Amino acid sequence: MHRFNCKRGKLWYDTNMASLCTLTVLPLKRALTFLLLAALATGCATVPMTNRRQLRLVSSQQMVSLSAVQYQEVLETAKLVKSGSQLQQVQRVGHRITDAVEEYYREEKIPQNFKWEFALIDGEQVNAWCMPGGKIAFYTGILPICQSDAGVATVMGHEIAHAMAEHGNERFSQGLLAQFGTAAANEVLKERDPKTQQLFATAIGLGTQVGVLLPFSRLQESEADQIGLMLMARAGYNPEAAVSFWQRMKENANGKQPPEFLSTHPSNDRRIEEIRAMLPKVRRYYTEAESTE
Ligand SMILES: [Zn+2]
Repeated sequence: MHRFNCKRGKLWYDTNMASLCTLTVLPLKRALTFLLLAALATGCATVPMTNRRQLRLVSSQQMVSLSAVQYQEVLETAKLVKSGSQLQQVQRVGHRITDAVEEYYREEKIPQNFKWEFALIDGEQVNAWCMPGGKIAFYTGILPICQSDAGVATVMGHEIAHAMAEHGNERFSQGLLAQFGTAAANEVLKERDPKTQQLFATAIGLGTQVGVLLPFSRLQESEADQIGLMLMARAGYNPEAAVSFWQRMKENANGKQPPEFLSTHPSNDRRIEEIRAMLPKVRRYYTEAESTE
């Protein structure tokens, strides 16, 4: 838990990173408490759809501009699929999911600055990601496991959920704090040295070769599943398809997955179980989406 306290005007935190970011204020007079909350607000933010409090030390705008550099690099070095039915599928599902995302932000009157782009990379990796700001890539290696539009929607919803929930920002913030401390974090960001770029790339999930989800924590993974299911349902894809997608992921892993206690993210079995438990809550959105089509 990232527990922020104010101690003689300084921020400190404890490093149990596994759970929610909560704000703890020591007993102080009301006025002072108010000022403290205002000061700490820059470090804590709320995740859309789940309302979890999380640590964010970096502005969304900074994350987007750091991502733009990384994305450009990917586009220049990767082997891109420029046409064909697979690309069309990724774009078709992508547009439906991002329409649902934008509809959600409109309903909630939350401003957002996503500029969606979809790339399909020719590669065996069973992987996909969405960078802060909405730059999405799928690898051709994951499409046979997706099988259908609903399968693509499962992955698309999950990856976009990481971006909506600013999980990269949260991880990056944790990394900055751990390496540089609160005061230094801002200075380091300005300099954009290679070490910071590396930390950033890892935080948003680049540079990993294995699986869809390794860079994120279990809490973030489960949150992305939850938001992702909601997105696919709102976009009119049956959320049940997420269960069969993760079953195919499990078969694909074919015993290669490390035991859960060695891994930072949930085992496929646990994930499938958790998704099943989430389904009753999201089915309503699917039924509503169906009836408006
Ligand atoms: Zn993930």
